[in-house]
Order: sequence, then C-alpha cells, then structure tokens
Amino acid sequence: MGFLTRLFIPRKVRRLVHPVRGVKRSVKKAVVPKPVRNAMWTAHKVAHPVDSAAYALERSLRTKARTAKSPVYMHTGCSVRHRSPEARTKCRNGR
Ligand SMILES: [Zn+2]
Repeated sequence: MGFLTRLFIPRKVRRLVHPVRGVKRSVKKAVVPKPVRNAMWTAHKVAHPVDSAAYALERSLRTKARTAKSPVYMHTGCSVRHRSPEARTKCRNGR
C-alpha cells in the first residue's frame, strides 16, 4: 500500500504533511549536479526494479488525471496553452 493512497492526495498537501522532506530534496537538488543525479537514479532503478515500475505507473496515472481535468485556454495567433481565461486575456501574443 502507500502508492495508491498517495495518488489521491495533491502534492501540496503531501508537502504540508512532510515539510522537511521537500526541503531536503531541494537542498540535494541544488548541491548534486544533474549528471550525478541521473546516474544515481539509474542505479536506483536497477537496484529496485519493482519500485521504479510502481513509480512509473503512479506518475503516468497522475499525469493523465492532471491533463484530463485542467482546461486550457487558447486563442488565435498564440500557441501557448493558458491555464486561465485571465492569462489568455493578458497575453500579448497574437490577438
Ligand atoms: Zn496567448
């Protein structure tokens, strides 16, 4: 269990529940260069194949759910997918 329950809790809420985790992560992100992180992640995937499969599944489900429910606002002369009608109105591209 764990990964299914996490699916239904928004990221913001999870951050509030575990504030230290997020900080640790961003510190690590700032300190460790990207190639090293990628190598670490690849090593992790090799070491825990089931884990990463579950993560991939979780991520794909989450991405689908998000793209399905968030509407986009577009207008002529602009290829940006605005996330609110206000953003579209303020947009300087095209019309
Ligand atoms: Zn626009």
